[in-house]
Amino acid sequence: MKKYIIGNWKMNLDYAEAKSLLQEVAKAQDSFDKTAEIVVCPPLVYISVFHELLKNNEWIKLGAQNVYCENNGAFTGEVSPTQLKSMGVSYVIIGHSERRQYFGEDNKMLLAKVKAVLKQGMTPIFCCGEHLQVRKSNVFKEFVMKQIEDVLFELSADEMQKVIIAYEPIWAIGTGQTATAAQAQEIHALIRLRLEKQFGAKVSTQVPIIYGGSMKPDNAGELLGQKDIDGGLIGGASLDAESFAAISKVS
Ligand code: PGA
Repeated sequence: MKKYIIGNWKMNLDYAEAKSLLQEVAKAQDSFDKTAEIVVCPPLVYISVFHELLKNNEWIKLGAQNVYCENNGAFTGEVSPTQLKSMGVSYVIIGHSERRQYFGEDNKMLLAKVKAVLKQGMTPIFCCGEHLQVRKSNVFKEFVMKQIEDVLFELSADEMQKVIIAYEPIWAIGTGQTATAAQAQEIHALIRLRLEKQFGAKVSTQVPIIYGGSMKPDNAGELLGQKDIDGGLIGGASLDAESFAAISKVS
């Protein structure tokens, strides 16, 4: 399976900075691994400009960090799947731990979002992962599996095979403390096994399971070298074009 190298810029950069970073990423094109799928997820407010800037770029795909689950109506401040689709967005991050934690997104909402995104032919990047406390309590495997089961197991096999799963241990996000390659691989393999049990071998081998949490050029090689790690959801290091390119190269 090809690798997915996805930059989550979060709520960073003003317009001039964001535009210049996009240009740097585009310039670094030659130094990226051409077999990988490269996606940038800028703050929503820049999506329409990025759509224009990327018009002649077949290589960098546009992703959104969030979406609402309805296509139109009186939902002040929200952005719909059809609106994103019309702006050339092909990937949407759903259920990032920051959305769950600060914006109270629950499983019902996440499922509605996943379905709404799939309906528009875009790819949901469904995030899961445990807090440090849960990790220490030793029930973290069950915790992560339940996050997946409660949302993704409501999908049909056909829907499931169009989803990307991002395993992001919360204790590793933005902390500089990465899960070891073995720790990440263990959970990725478990997720794949659960997918196989629920949806069959074909779906389980097709669904990309990517890792997120302080992925950097110096640890990406080992992480991306694991059998069940199909890419990275990269926060901090995606704000530097060189690091972002370097991560793709070691994949
Ligand atoms: P990080 O963020 O790479 O800065 O840890 C990853 C993410 O939250 O998607």
